Amino acid sequence: MAPEEAIRAINIVKRYGNFEAVRGISFDVKRGEAFALLGPNGAGKTTTVRMLTTLTNITSGEAYVNGYSVKSEGLMVRRSIGLVPDVSNLYEELTVEENLNFVADLYDAPRENVKMLLKEFNLPAKKKFGKLSSGFKRRVAIAAALVHEPSVLFLDEPTNGLDVHSAKAVRALVRELNKTGMTVFLTTHNMVEAESIPQRVAIMKEGRIIAEGKRTELSKLIGKGVRVRLRVEPVSNKLIEALLQYGPNFDEGDLVFLIGDVDEFIEEICRLRRTLGFKVLKLSTEAPGIEEVFIELTGNDRERPCHCGGCPL
Ligand code: ATP
Repeated sequence: MAPEEAIRAINIVKRYGNFEAVRGISFDVKRGEAFALLGPNGAGKTTTVRMLTTLTNITSGEAYVNGYSVKSEGLMVRRSIGLVPDVSNLYEELTVEENLNFVADLYDAPRENVKMLLKEFNLPAKKKFGKLSSGFKRRVAIAAALVHEPSVLFLDEPTNGLDVHSAKAVRALVRELNKTGMTVFLTTHNMVEAESIPQRVAIMKEGRIIAEGKRTELSKLIGKGVRVRLRVEPVSNKLIEALLQYGPNFDEGDLVFLIGDVDEFIEEICRLRRTLGFKVLKLSTEAPGIEEVFIELTGNDRERPCHCGGCPL
């Protein structure tokens, strides 16, 4: 019987020389679930995907995909998954159909599957892959990952480099696939993506998972549950000074705060209004998005120095 978890990572580590790119992370992805690894550049997301899809060895720990060990049953793992890599591995000079047929033959999959995917994804079969727009290239890459009917689909930064419309179309496609029961594991540094596709998100920083849960759970994790928007007149220096402790941000004329104890905050605003005499034009609350949680957890330290040895970072 297939295990309930489509993916299980147990304390996986990836070391390049002395450098630990992934520092012992563990997580489960349930069958049929869409799960995202969200993190800034260099967090270790691609390395994690590469370990789970057997493209690189795990230094220590263990991971299972569809119940197969990525360490000792690599072939079975590869047959049961589809991978959309961050950089396309399809042939520019071949047509879309030729590319998909090539993949079908590699996996011993029926060419009927290619015909079906061409139709379902509305792909231009006879056009050379190299002549397609980036959005269509990504659609073809997703189709190519599905030719052998995998039950788990890995997507590494699926909308990276796409314009807004193509990115939206790709997200809709991934959501549709997930609705049909496909387990989806994606990496992204894009908040919109993390808020629109997965049911669960793990935030990765410097090789570690620093938070994991549903979107609403993530905001609870940092203990600042509510975003408060405040608009007052006039905005004096004294007011700003008094509100500095709440870490205000400015957005289109509003002062925006992430607040744990909203009652206490409102009391403070009332007290300040009495002493400073400003007028409150707007005071509203809303749940924070993943973006705030992400910035709160990862700070401004958005990039780690590169350790590949081949670039100047
Ligand atoms: P990005 O979004 O930029 O791809 P990422 O979160 O996917 O970021 P990784 O590509 O997994 O991050 O890289 C994690 C760290 O491991 C980085 O510091 C990177 O320089 C390093 N790294 C990745 N591949 C190698 C390699 N082959 N040799 C040495 N270091 C590497």
